[in-house]
Amino acid sequence: MSDIRLEGVTKHYGSVAAADNVDLAVTQGEFVTILGPSGSGKTTLLSLIAGLNRPTAGRIFIGGRDVTDAAAQERNIGLVFQSYALFPHMTALENVLFPLGVRGIGAAEGRRQAIDALKLVQLEGLGDRRPSQLSGGQQQRVALARAVVFKPDILLLDEPLGALDRKLREELQVELKQLQRTLGVTTILVTHDQEEALSLSDRIMVLDKGRPQQVAAPAEAYLKPANRFVAEFLGIANFVGMPDGRRGLVRPERMRLAASGEGKAARVVEAIYLGQMVRYHLALEGAQGAQPVVAAVPFLGKAFATGERVIVSWDAADLWPVAQ
Ligand code: ADP
Ligand code: MG
Repeated sequence: MSDIRLEGVTKHYGSVAAADNVDLAVTQGEFVTILGPSGSGKTTLLSLIAGLNRPTAGRIFIGGRDVTDAAAQERNIGLVFQSYALFPHMTALENVLFPLGVRGIGAAEGRRQAIDALKLVQLEGLGDRRPSQLSGGQQQRVALARAVVFKPDILLLDEPLGALDRKLREELQVELKQLQRTLGVTTILVTHDQEEALSLSDRIMVLDKGRPQQVAAPAEAYLKPANRFVAEFLGIANFVGMPDGRRGLVRPERMRLAASGEGKAARVVEAIYLGQMVRYHLALEGAQGAQPVVAAVPFLGKAFATGERVIVSWDAADLWPVAQ
């Protein structure tokens, strides 16, 4: 287990700064997620930490050691990518054994450790199958077992669940979090999925065009975004005014809806049933052409209908002034 520190890490591809002066400190055992849209530089950052790529400028430290110029195999890192990247001609067990063989661990001891790792990812008894005989989720579990079997100092995961369908992805998210907690291994996950980032991480770093926009705990980034990009990337944001003239963001779950009472009058433009919640798109009266206000409220057996007049209100405390 190690901490990770990036100091002014920059990577240029021609005129593109895929990583632009990135500072980040990940503490031992922490789970940090790099979150950003496609092309924001997530994979670039991970490949720099892994040593698959060299920065144009800046330093990278793992466990206090400057590894900027160290080869990938000198960094003791477990890596998992979106594409499973298993050896197709090897069984699951042989795949998991591979990094142990590379490290000169004897056959009997290696076998014991590989079987333990397969157990850890709940693939006990499937060690003899080849990747083609395993489902996508099982293949990604093998990839995880292979990444942790040699007790890496850090674990780097690049969109590891991106190829899986939603239900399986949610299951594996829970397993991944449990595995990370069990092993206590310092982990950096890369994803473009805000829900995944918010639900798994101790902290998230939001990236835009190679530049970190905010590093914060999930709830803080969600409710107190550093800027408009973070606010909008992490979910639906209502930009509204207060009677005192302040403007800012209010998240949909912080909105209240009623048939009457104090607040702003609005028409229901759309009511979208989401299971436990209903999401309303509302046109405020006297605000023609403005973005609809979005409110997400628990579904309690009855919803407001499209076209209905409602009163929407929010607390001043839930309004977060955000740089536009
Ligand atoms: P992400 O993983 O967030 O989708 P990447 O790190 O893959 O983003 O890419 C960030 C930017 O760097 C993109 O503009 C991409 O086109 C560019 N880029 C990445 N790798 C290379 C490369 N090997 N050569 C040239 N440009 C690259
Ligand atoms: Mg990527």
